[in-house]
Parts: sequence; structure tokens; C-alpha cells
Amino acid sequence: MPARRAQSRRPNIGVTTACAVVGDRATDLAQREYAAAVAGAGGIPRLLPALASLPAADVADGLDGLLLTGGGDVNPARYGAPPSPEIGGVDDERDEAELGLVDAALGRSVPILGICRGCQLLNVALGGTLLQHLPVVSTQPHLLAAPRGEVVHTVHVEEGSQLHRALGRSAAGVNSIHHQGIDELAPGLRAVAWAEDGLVEAVEHRSAPVMAVQWHPESIIGQPGQLGLFEWLVRRAPHPHAARAPGEALRAAR
Ligand code: MN
Repeated sequence: MPARRAQSRRPNIGVTTACAVVGDRATDLAQREYAAAVAGAGGIPRLLPALASLPAADVADGLDGLLLTGGGDVNPARYGAPPSPEIGGVDDERDEAELGLVDAALGRSVPILGICRGCQLLNVALGGTLLQHLPVVSTQPHLLAAPRGEVVHTVHVEEGSQLHRALGRSAAGVNSIHHQGIDELAPGLRAVAWAEDGLVEAVEHRSAPVMAVQWHPESIIGQPGQLGLFEWLVRRAPHPHAARAPGEALRAAR
């Protein structure tokens, strides 16, 4: 029997969600812009409910990439700090579920793109700390009333970084919808973009396929280079199932 050619397929990209009460029901939510950006970059977005009871290893086994989306603040207890009065939107179950996912993804070399809260969560997951309320430490506004799709400040990108290649430029105009930021950088990460006030606006891992930005590329997807971040995630996805011949998948399952 002639061997069938393995079908190439689009990588499965896990997209984390927030849980909020809609009407009177707890509901899993993610802004459509995330899914649209993943789809636009060639991946299939798979929305992941923030269920701490779901084994992260099993979830990660089904993923070719992981997108950590924006949302409420990480509980400062996760990085050993007392909460500042401005802390908002803490969801301990979401923290638990996402920290487990980061660990499982790193252990499997599943690439990760972090956005806003996702950037902060990644830093905490790897042992870093956060600035809990930026207006306390910087006069540059980062939490702006401007529409999400509006470019409001510039970031300077390190030449030669993965981010630099993904964006295709060393300076980019970005939106800014965050009141927290990175304080102490986790040992495994390096800073690769900064705002004018010196705040870290992007990080990447020293050895793993992991990148995270503080702005929201999904909301300025038409701006030069921003779709490139999602294309980086989809391109880095290992396509394990697509690479397998039909018999291999069966053998691997045993
Ligand atoms: Mn900013």
C-alpha cells in the first residue's frame, strides 16, 4: 500500500481566557482580536478556560503554541509582595491555571507569546517581580484613555533580538493599556524593548522560544510589524502531528 502523505495542518495555538460573570453565569471570555490575530497568522486559536483543576501537562500536550492574553493583575503574593491599594482584577484560579501552563509549555518547548498581563505573568512564573502601579514610579502615562487601537508611545527594540526580527524594525509605535510593568527581571529572561521612560516593554527567554510584549499588538494589527509577532508564534510551533506519518501517530500513542 503506498504511504499516504501526512497532511500539513495549521498549528493549534492555545489562547488563555478570563472568567467573568455575564448575566448570572460565570463565563470564559477572550477578546475576538486575539483569535483573529492567531488565525490571520496561520494558526487555529483554541480558547482555554482558566480551570486550575485541568492538568496543565495534558492541555499543553494538545498545543503547538501558547498565547498568554491580557487581563487583571497577577496576585502579588505570587512574587512575595504585599498588595498595593491599586491592585485590580486578581483571579487566583486564572493565575494558578496559567502558571501551570507556562511551566508545562516550557517543559515541552511549546513556544509562548505573552501579551500585557501575559508578559507580567511570564516574568512572575520565572521568578521576577512587578511594579504594581506605574504612576507611582513614572510620569509617562501607560494606562491611557485613548482607544485601544491608537498608537500612543514608541518602544525601542534591541537589534538582533527575536522581537526585532519578528517586528522587522528597531522602533515601533504602540498602544499602552497597562498600569503595571516589570520590576526585577526573571533570571531566564532578557529585556528587548523599552519605552522612553526606561520601562521594559518586551522580554524574551534566553534559550526557550518565549517572547512577551507589554502592549496589545492584536489591537493594532494593521500597524507595521505587529502581525509579525503572531506569525513568529505560529512559525515557531513544532507541528508535531503534521510531521508524523500515519503509523507514527499510532505508535506514539502507545
Ligand atoms: Mn506602555
